[in-house]
Amino acid sequence: MMEKMASLCKRRGFVYPSSEIYGGMQAIYDYGHYGTLLKNNIRDAWWKAMVQLRDDVVGLDSAIFMHPTTWVASGHVGGFNDPQVDCKKCKSRFRADHILEEFGINADKAPLDELNGHLDKLREEKKLKCANCGSTDLTEAKVFSLMVKSNIGSPTDELKEENVVYLRPETCGGIYLEYKNTVDSLHKKLPFGIAQVGKAFRNEIVARQFIFRTREFEQMEMQYFLYPDMMKEKYEDWKVARWSWYLEYGIKTDQIHWYKHEKLAHYASEAYDIEYNFKTLGGFKEIEGIHARGDWDLSQHSKFSGVDLSYFDQEKNEKFVPHIMETSVGLGRLVFMFLDQAYTEEAVGEETRVVLKLDKRLAPVKVAILPLSKKEELTSPAKEIWNTLKESFMCEYDETQSIGKRYRRQDEIGTPYCVTVDFETLNDQAVTVRDRDTMVQERIKIVELSKYLRDFLG
Ligand code: ATP
Repeated sequence: MMEKMASLCKRRGFVYPSSEIYGGMQAIYDYGHYGTLLKNNIRDAWWKAMVQLRDDVVGLDSAIFMHPTTWVASGHVGGFNDPQVDCKKCKSRFRADHILEEFGINADKAPLDELNGHLDKLREEKKLKCANCGSTDLTEAKVFSLMVKSNIGSPTDELKEENVVYLRPETCGGIYLEYKNTVDSLHKKLPFGIAQVGKAFRNEIVARQFIFRTREFEQMEMQYFLYPDMMKEKYEDWKVARWSWYLEYGIKTDQIHWYKHEKLAHYASEAYDIEYNFKTLGGFKEIEGIHARGDWDLSQHSKFSGVDLSYFDQEKNEKFVPHIMETSVGLGRLVFMFLDQAYTEEAVGEETRVVLKLDKRLAPVKVAILPLSKKEELTSPAKEIWNTLKESFMCEYDETQSIGKRYRRQDEIGTPYCVTVDFETLNDQAVTVRDRDTMVQERIKIVELSKYLRDFLG
């Protein structure tokens, strides 16, 4: 399934391995035309739900580079590590907690000695093997920092601890640093949220997970600032809001579930993940985290910066540091989830049809306009239709290859409607509209086409 997915993504212009002509970069990917359209549509659907439809959340687009102390205050420089295990034979690298997960052992956030205790036991039982080459010669777990470093600002200097500037490992750092400016400039009162979409970077240890886990990725995060006694109620509200968003875009209730974290960071009071059952990855995997973080983030940044980030409640005439709950999801991970969910193989006569049954709002292209032949008498009215429709929808005009191949291509990129201009069009001023999911074809007058499509596509 994974090979099929990666191959479809490359063949049809969704996702390419980055720098392929130079041999590629592990866990870094580029999005092609359709991948970019799909990703943007998912991002816009998230933004609409999180910002546009709410009066209590505002947007932000903060820089990737931040003052290095940001990541000391947040605890990332000291502790954003993943214990790793290396295969001495084939040099493959694995996350120790992921190896243990395969044996049903939950070692999420476990200390190094606990991880090595579990690994030693598996070694003694002769169960510990490299997933790549089968060798039993694996190292013990060692700590590996996930922070990516740069020399921005001191380009001629050698990279030393004193001049390192990190690439942000999560986008929420920028939200905490702009909390005060947001309150001061937009006069927001608690409770309110700040949402942003942007790139994050982690030196991930990865093992063939395609775009599930990448070293450069986009996060969509929302930090909700509130009074401490509101946490329980708002946390439940946001859980409902985020769960409903998945259902609204076509994910079924049996394809997602909640995973409750038992081991919490010392400042956190609650942490749940939404997990989706990936056909491609063979099981439920995290897609989004919803976390109650207490006042840790703003308190730490107050302490390290010396700037008072507390909130003044005019009614009660008191100052306090707001508590935060966050929703955090990877955009690339959502692209993968929607592709995984939409991917369908259907028998049509002797053949197998591959079709992406994406929600119409997320589909990269909404309408394909296909003249039956390359003859001017058909291409001319077809281009006219394209020129009219493209103002309202992302459309594609295609006159290459047979109509069967063109339908197949549009099915594989998930285009909900194909409009075919044929010789009959010249007589009846009508076109054939083919529905992606049912393959039912309907004859529609050209003058009514825009309205017909708008009724289905919105
Ligand atoms: P994991 O346990 O999978 O490494 P995490 O718990 O470290 O993830 P968070 O730091 O909570 O993840 O990040 C929030 C969200 O950001 C995740 O739910 C995921 O959707 C996304 N995300 C995190 N790391 C990556 C990555 N390397 N590639 C793609 N998306 C990511």
